[in-house]
Amino acid sequence: MEQPRILVVEDEQAIADTILYALRTDGMQAEHCTLGSAALARMRADAADLVILDVGLPDVNGFEVCRTLRTFCDVPVIFLTARHEEIDRIVGLEIGADDYVVKPFSPRELAARVRAILRRARGGAAPAPAATDSGFTHDADGARLAYRGRWLDLTRYEYLLLALLVAHPGRIYTRAQLMELVWQDALDTSDRTVDTHVKTLRAKLRDATPEGEGAERIRTHRGMGYSLDPMQA
Ligand code: CA
Repeated sequence: MEQPRILVVEDEQAIADTILYALRTDGMQAEHCTLGSAALARMRADAADLVILDVGLPDVNGFEVCRTLRTFCDVPVIFLTARHEEIDRIVGLEIGADDYVVKPFSPRELAARVRAILRRARGGAAPAPAATDSGFTHDADGARLAYRGRWLDLTRYEYLLLALLVAHPGRIYTRAQLMELVWQDALDTSDRTVDTHVKTLRAKLRDATPEGEGAERIRTHRGMGYSLDPMQA
């Protein structure tokens, strides 16, 4: 099995160091951020398997970070808290945490909990797919695509069209090329076929992203055709 990748979000360096050490000793890959905003950017670009999240961060508190994270990703979250008053909120799971640890804590105990949660997550539903550089994940065997960790509900031609664009980010395809490559086995098509499918794909990408920014990933090049924006939004 691949080494699980854990993101540790903790602003106190000494605490972060002991956690990172414990996780790495336990055979896990561990990365570290000190800010909530950095953690979210990191997760959007390339999701870790589990997040250890301090509640008291310098920029955004851990609850807010978790709430935002939940809008695009189902990754397990373990909270670190220094205050017993915060436990009720965490335990109430109103913010979608999987577990919590109260400071001071044993880093080895934390590593053991991480292992337990990962086992549970792997035994359950299919894990949220890890995004590639473009934010898309392509499961060719299952003929499906995910954007930022969420599987998209696509029709056959929407899937074929998006898979082609995702395979070559930045490359411009003319309508004629798309018709030939994507609709080669279609019985009846019209000049509007490509445009119609781009429109429905954009709507689905918009709905799959918190600010609707996904819609902008498919770019129109006037008089030329369409491409996938290779840049992370
Ligand atoms: Ca802190």
